[in-house]
Formats: sequence, C-alpha cells, structure tokens
Amino acid sequence: MLVADVAVPVPLARAFSYEVPQHLAPLLVPGARVLCDFRKRQTIGVVVGLGEREPSPDLPLKPLRAVVDARPVVPKELLDFLLEVAGYYYAPIGEVLRMALPALERGEVERLEDVQGELGTLKRTKQIGEARELVISATDSVEEPGTLRGQAREILALVRGTGPQVLSRLEDRFKNARSAAKKLASLGLAKLEQRARAHAPLFAELAERDTPPELTTAQAEATARVTASIRGESTERGFLLFGVTGSGKTEVYLRAIAACLEVGKGALVMVPEIALTPQLVGRFRARFGDDLAVVHSGLSDKARHAMHKKLLAGEVKVAIGARSALFAPVPSLGLVIVDEEHDGSFKQEEGVRYHARDMAILRAHRAGATIVLGSATPSLESFELSRKGKLTLLRLPDRAKSEASLPVVEVIDLKRFGAGPTGDPLLSLPLHRALEATLAKKEQAILFLNRRGHSPTIVCMMCGTVHTCKACSVSLTFHRGRGGFDSESLEGGRVRCHYCGYEDHVPDRCEKCGSRELLLEGLGTEKLEQTLAEAFPAATIARLDRDVAEGGKSEKLLSRMRAGEIDILVGTQMVTKGHDYPNVTMVGVVNADAALSMPDFRSGERSFSLLVQVAGRAGRHERPGRVIIQTRNPEHPAIVLAARHDVEGFLRSELKDRAEVHYPPFAKLALLRIEAIDARVAQRTAGDLARACMASAPARAGKVDVLGPSPAPLARLRARYRFRVLLRATDRGPLRACLAAVEPLLSGIDRRARALIDVDPVSMM
Ligand code: ADP
Ligand code: ZN
Ligand code: ZN
Repeated sequence: MLVADVAVPVPLARAFSYEVPQHLAPLLVPGARVLCDFRKRQTIGVVVGLGEREPSPDLPLKPLRAVVDARPVVPKELLDFLLEVAGYYYAPIGEVLRMALPALERGEVERLEDVQGELGTLKRTKQIGEARELVISATDSVEEPGTLRGQAREILALVRGTGPQVLSRLEDRFKNARSAAKKLASLGLAKLEQRARAHAPLFAELAERDTPPELTTAQAEATARVTASIRGESTERGFLLFGVTGSGKTEVYLRAIAACLEVGKGALVMVPEIALTPQLVGRFRARFGDDLAVVHSGLSDKARHAMHKKLLAGEVKVAIGARSALFAPVPSLGLVIVDEEHDGSFKQEEGVRYHARDMAILRAHRAGATIVLGSATPSLESFELSRKGKLTLLRLPDRAKSEASLPVVEVIDLKRFGAGPTGDPLLSLPLHRALEATLAKKEQAILFLNRRGHSPTIVCMMCGTVHTCKACSVSLTFHRGRGGFDSESLEGGRVRCHYCGYEDHVPDRCEKCGSRELLLEGLGTEKLEQTLAEAFPAATIARLDRDVAEGGKSEKLLSRMRAGEIDILVGTQMVTKGHDYPNVTMVGVVNADAALSMPDFRSGERSFSLLVQVAGRAGRHERPGRVIIQTRNPEHPAIVLAARHDVEGFLRSELKDRAEVHYPPFAKLALLRIEAIDARVAQRTAGDLARACMASAPARAGKVDVLGPSPAPLARLRARYRFRVLLRATDRGPLRACLAAVEPLLSGIDRRARALIDVDPVSMM
C-alpha cells in the first residue's frame, strides 16, 4: 500500500499517514499539497514523505481525498530545510510549512473541483473587490475555560488550525463572524488587522534602470571575494560584511546578486521589516527590474500566491523581503543575503519562534549557497563566527561617497544640563541650539525617542499610584491623538497599553484614592512633536512611529522627508534604519538610557547598535553630520564607544564580558516560557518543568545549567502570569538532550497553563 505522510496545518509536532488511492498515486509527489480528512473536516496538507508500507488491520489509514498540485509547491531543498527548522525549534511541522506556503487560492480549488469532483465541501466563494480587507488571526493567548461558545469558539479553532482568515470570507460560513471576531479580539485571543489586497505599494511604481557606480577599493575587494565564492572559485562560503553606515553595502549586494544570476542561480535577500521601504526596494528594482519578487506582510493572498508561483516556475529568481522571505521558494539557490543581520526583528516572537538570520545560514549551507551577513554593528554571534573563521570578515571602513565622513558625536550629560528654553528636561540647551542651527542652515534633523504616545505614565499626585493596565504589569501610556494643543490637559486623550492593545478613556480619578489630581509624566513622541512645534513655529515637524505607520501614512511621510518638506522628523526605531537623506545633517538621541535599562543581557549591545545606526543617518552625503546623544550615563561603554564610532572596540569589550558571565555567543540558551491566568498554576507548572530539566541526564552531569523558575521581567501579560526557566549550556548537544527530555512533558502539563520552548531566545522579557 502506498502511504503518504502529510503535514497538516495544526500545532501538532508530527505528520499524519494517509493511504494513497490508486487513481491518485501517479499524481503524487513530495512537496505537493493534498486534500485530506482531518478531525471531521477536510484540510489542505503537504506531503512530506511517500512510501510503500504493509497495511495494518488494527490501524486502518484514511484515504487521501485529492491531489491539489501536480508539482511540488515546496521544492525538495526547501522541504528538507523546513523539516530541519521544525526539529531545531521543537515546532510543529504543519505550522512551519504554513509559513512557507501561500494560502491556497480559491480559484484553484474550484478548478480542481471541476476536474476531480472530489472537493465537494469546499464551496465557491465570491471574489472580493475592495482594496483592503479585515483579517483575523489567533494570538498566543489561551482562553479561560468555558468563556467561549458558539461561533466565537468555532472561529477561534479555525484560525488556530488554519491560520489568518479574511473576515468577509468567514461570513459565508458564520453568520455572526463579525461580532464573534470582535469578541475574540476584546478577549485578547485574536487580532484584527486591515490588510492591503493586491497592488501593494512596494510594487506600484516602475523603477528606472540605474547605472552601477564605480566601486570603491573596499567594495571591489569585498565583491571579488563574494563573487568568487558564488562562482565556486573559492572555498569560502560565508561572509560577514562589516561596513560603516553609508559605506555602500547595498552596492556589494547588488553586484553579488548579478554574479549569482550570471551563473544561472537564484538569490534571497532579507532585510529588517522596517527597512523594507520603497526606497530600498527601488534600488533593487532599478538594477534587476521585474526579476524581483518582493515578499512582505502587506501582500494579499492572491499577490503572495502569484509571487510564489513565479518563483517556483523560475520566472523570477530574486526574492527580497523581511523575516518570512526566508521561506521563499527561490529556485536553485546560489546566494543568501541578510542585511542588518544584527536586527532583533529577524527573530519571530510568536508562533514558530525562529531566527531568520540563523536559519538563513542553515538554508544557505544546505543548499551549497553563499551567505553574506551585512551590518555596521555586527551581532556578537556573527562577529564571533568570523573570529572563529566560520565567516570571512570583509570590511568597508569608510563611507562610499568620497565627500562624506562619519558625523561628529557629542554626548550630553543630562545630570549636568537642565532643560533648554522649552522647559522640558529632555530637550537640553545644546540639543535645542543644535536644532536652531540646523534650521537656520535649511538642513534637516532627525530626533530619535523610543517611546510612542504622549506621556508614558499617568500618576496620582496625592498617593503616587501609577495607572497600569488591568491585564499586564505595565503602565498605560497617554495618547493625545488628534486632541487639543494644551499639552498638560488630559481631556480628549486616551490611554493605551502598548503590550496588549487595551484602550480606554483617560480615568477622571485615581483608582486607589479617588483623587482627581492626575499628572502626566515622561516624554513620548507625540508630546515631543508638539513641544517642538511650539518651540519652532516656523519649522515643519513630523512624526514617524507605529501609530502613524498603522494609519498607512509612513511612505508619504518619508517621501516628504526626501523632498525636504520636513525640517525635523521625530520618531521611534523606525527613523533609525536604512534611510539615506542627503540633507539630514543633525541627529538627536533624546534619551539613550531607555534601552540601556532593559533587564536583558543584550541591552548594552542593543543600545550600542541603535546609537550607531541612528547616528549613521547624519551626514551621509556632502554636508558634514552632527549627532547629539543625551544620557544620564555618559560613562557607559555603549555610549562612549558609539560616540567614537568604535564598533570593533565595543564588540571586543562586550565579548569579553559575555565570556565572563557565560552568555551567548559563549553559551547556548533556551527558555521555557510558562503562562497561566492563575499565578499559582503558572508558578507550580514552571516549578515542575524546572525540576524535570534538573532531573535530565545532561543537567545531572553538570552540562546544562537550569536557572529558575522565576517570574518573567514582564510578569503579567494579557491577563496571564508569566514564568520562565532558563537553560544554559556550553555546547548545543547537551542542551538539545535536555530539551528533548522535557519537550514531551509540555503537552501533559496542567490544562490551565501553557508552556513553550524558545530556542536561542532574543527577547528575555
Ligand atoms: P550602507 O547600506 O552601507 O549604509 P548604502 O548602500 O546606502 O550604504 O550607500 C550609501 C550611499 O553611498 C548611497 O547614497 C549610495 O548610492 C552611495 N554609494 C554606494 N556605493 C557607491 C560608490 N561606489 N560610489 C559612489 N556612491 C556610492
Ligand atoms: Zn491616588
Ligand atoms: Zn495590557
């Protein structure tokens, strides 16, 4: 009997076996999608294995219903890679596959229906014409037992089982889909998002072909080494392209891709989500035209599907995108590029918690492709790989444009400098004067502040109580929104939790003592924008943060910035990456301490790279740049070394510290994350799991340290108490053995709790 192992999109670790009916056998290939019965309904799965097996009378297999694709939708190289990803992260194979597959296009199922007459239950769906659609997806949260019934419950099960769904399509099946979805969202069990349909803006304009510039000596040397590797003329397979901001790393990528296409192979380029701007994509399209597939989260199912097909068919050979582009079916992969490889957004923090940079190295290695990791501030992990000779270090020590130089950085000690003319302690006199000077020269400035909203806290003046989220252990942020101009009035504003999305009116009294004297504390981007507008009435001030970006306004804003219509751009992390504006000569870091104070062993590394990256936005062209960093810790090495542009000095000193405290890259980590609505349930479960870890052979042999259980730094999130157990080992082998021992226990814990494994964790919160 021919048996197919099928991965279905459910959070279960294994694939399921089905009998292959005779009439389907000739059509079936590994990597193809099939329709099969699963838990009383039909679902689309992917064949991961195929073989003859003795039929067993005790365990009769269900037959496959239909074959969806005649050819694999997942090429062999990618399928094997996905299986390895699932194994590495202890993730369900179905979920990993789901990330690699575009949602099945309905039209295609209808066609199959006509041809095979097998797909009776998948009914016709109407085409929807509007430009945006509302999509519902499951969050990581679990429901309190018994809170859900009816359609809300069914819809949640569906989105958990099959992934995000377009709400209007659900309405075909569930009459109350809309209200049920809202209910799920209000309980934190699901997310509702507007998503653009086809014709995503990144594809809109046709790029003119550019003429490649003459390479600098350093660029030429780097390009030669990478090209030799792609052509198989050298044994080097991996590179760390360590180039200062503005050194022209992108040009090296472009040349490498060209060399890759020349030998008939495909290339994959990954960039951080917020770096995926029309400007960057434009540079790639200017070189490769329509040979380029852009993969991003704003794509409609249809566009995603079309792209997938073009790549599979080899019509398009280069894919560029954020994290998820890792799974693009690029044909005969010859080159993988990870730009800004140090960026935290390459780690997915929900669902399958994979690290796209680490897995890019793996995919390239398996495919025999060349890998290039690029950064101005390499991660310690990659830098250490280069020190051990596993990656070849290529340096671009100077800015590409001969007239451009690195900006001069001044550190302002906020303990010594008080407030400038605005009276806000976070706008010191030197920063104020620097902004004035920039405006006077008709140049542009960027101010970076890592807090969105108006004020990060609301405090009671009488008893000091801070207004916090009811579901999370964090303070609520005051947002003025479109409200009035009186910066200290709470009227018309809203409070929001930046972790769970809770939003409400501003309270009119303290919930503890009832006092009406509430005070706004701290500075967020909204307030900074407002304060600057009052201080510099003749200047055009704009703000870029998630609140603006969610309204879909960021592209317009960036093109206004480019056109010189904005004098001062205020923003969060979004202003720090990738942008290349000739007229930006001044960059201010309003508060460098926020990132330094995070309870995380990587906080120094993260602050440092943030500072270098944001400073790198200044003076990229002819005009010299100037950077002001405000801090209360002017002696902190991350700040001192960032001010000197001494990246290597920082990497070396930080590596020394990491070696001393035995943390990555000198140790391997895994985190068990445990959460439950009841704190005692969470704590008890965490304790049980920690004991199981300690009882494992590698821990008893002293090869794995078990740290905890302890409450997570973010002790409560979305009404769940959170605990963690940290596993640490010098070598990966014992760590994996320990995880293998506890992994089977995760499905048998107290049903009110949830536990998961986070391999190589990035967020320690
Ligand atoms: P990075 O990615 O290293 O920060 P970019 O690739 O954005 O740097 O390059 C910075 C600027 O230098 C861009 O405006 C780019 O067009 C320009 N540039 C890159 N290479 C060259 C070159 N060889 N000659 C002249 N200008 C260059
Ligand atoms: Zn009070
Ligand atoms: Zn919250």
